[in-house]
Amino acid sequence: VDRKWDLIVAGAGPAGCTLAAKVATGGYNVLLIERSGFPGDGRSWIVDVERTVFSEAGVPRPCQEASWYEPERQLIMSAKGKSVELLESPVLPVRNREYVRQLAHWAMESGAEVVTGSTVLGPVLDGHLVTGVTYSRDGDTARANGRLVADCTGLPGAIRKNTPADWFLDGDISARDLVLARREVRRIDVGAAREAVAGGVVLDRKRLDRTAVMSPYSVFTYYMDLERGEIDILVGGKLGGRYPTAEEWFSRILGRWPFVKETLFGDGAAIPVRRTWDALVGDGLLVAGDAACQVIPVHGSGTASALIAANLASQSVIRALEGKSYDRSALWDYCHQFQSGRGSVLAYYYVIQRHTDSLDPADIDKMMEKGIISASDVHNGLLPAPFKKNPLDLARKLARGISSLHLMAGFAAAGLKSERMMKHYRRYPERYSRHALDSWRRGLPSS
Ligand SMILES: Cc1cc2nc3c(=O)[nH]c(=O)nc-3n(C[C@H](O)[C@H](O)[C@H](O)COP(=O)(O)OP(=O)(O)OC[C@H]3O[C@@H](n4cnc5c(N)ncnc54)[C@H](O)[C@@H]3O)c2cc1C
Repeated sequence: VDRKWDLIVAGAGPAGCTLAAKVATGGYNVLLIERSGFPGDGRSWIVDVERTVFSEAGVPRPCQEASWYEPERQLIMSAKGKSVELLESPVLPVRNREYVRQLAHWAMESGAEVVTGSTVLGPVLDGHLVTGVTYSRDGDTARANGRLVADCTGLPGAIRKNTPADWFLDGDISARDLVLARREVRRIDVGAAREAVAGGVVLDRKRLDRTAVMSPYSVFTYYMDLERGEIDILVGGKLGGRYPTAEEWFSRILGRWPFVKETLFGDGAAIPVRRTWDALVGDGLLVAGDAACQVIPVHGSGTASALIAANLASQSVIRALEGKSYDRSALWDYCHQFQSGRGSVLAYYYVIQRHTDSLDPADIDKMMEKGIISASDVHNGLLPAPFKKNPLDLARKLARGISSLHLMAGFAAAGLKSERMMKHYRRYPERYSRHALDSWRRGLPSS
């Protein structure tokens, strides 16, 4: 425990495993500390991940065990049944638990030491520098010392929450920036399910995403395959409070669909859908993945961002270790690259997401009916890329939206605000200085 690690990573999800593997591959001593019994445990949902991310982030493609079936067709439908057929899907279904296991094995094979069943309690601070972590294991508290520490603990943010306020990493996530989700694959009673298909209750081999069914920001998705005898069901959104939780919503669906039987695998959890923190590093510390709120705010997808962030973070870590300098300036490149790149698109979608909150589910129906939200917009949201602004597309939207001018106006205003936010992120300070960061923060447009 007294050994001085080059890097200590807290949390072995996609972000933590990737960062640990990459830095260990560079020949450095890496300790990866995970709370669960084994990386991926308790997190066996399917994640839809951008196909291009594996090569972009330089991570292994999901092995056979971690792969899942791709839907043949995909529809997105509003609460009242207005639907848009999606273009070819830019995302790939991946079994999260199996993929995280695969990444954890990659980290171990690269030389990282993985400690499981251990909960990181917080950072060890020497003045303003993070020099290690404390963690509990079997009721005992231990300490590990490291040159650098990474918080990849996801929503708990076990380390970032206990850092100096002027690192801007210790923020709370408000309920309005939190998505509750549950996704399970279950067996079906094929005979009864066939009848349900004939009765128009459910579709076979067509993925359906229904938006705004519960709260304005909510999705109910399923993909049933009669031949395989399985159904994959996801519910998620800003739930709880005056809406049911994801678990309650899930049981309601089971109550309505008696042909759905026992769980094959699946879990639920909460996802932060805020824009990223104003900075992603402190002295001796990096934050990546859900812990840094690097999630696409309109649909709660964080896997691809976690992999991209871990890749960028690993480059900064290796440079800092080579240069034997561990403060914010030494780690800033990761921060700048993420914020001005992918972070800017995430921030764009954060503003759009905030706008969606102000809408009524009936508005979303109308926007889909009028083509104000089109298949190409949905496709871009999945990529993620900002909405296309080709003049023909806009003219078509205007023509169709003329009878729903207030919606068009709201959408256009949100679009302008989003652009402003994205541009601001793109101008994220290239080098760290107190002054540069303060002035960037002061210039942040409202969301
Ligand atoms: C039901 C559901 C469906 C989802 N669907 C999608 C999807 O389709 N596409 C997509 O891209 N994303 C999806 N997501 C989100 C995605 O799973 C996350 O964005 C992603 O897992 C983030 O990776 P991460 O490594 O940052 O954090 P996590 O996956 O949260 O991993 C954090 C790890 O840290 C560990 N940990 C936590 N606290 C401590 C501590 N104190 N000490 C030690 N270890 C700790 C946890 O046990 C965990 O292993 C979904 C999430 C849910 C819940």
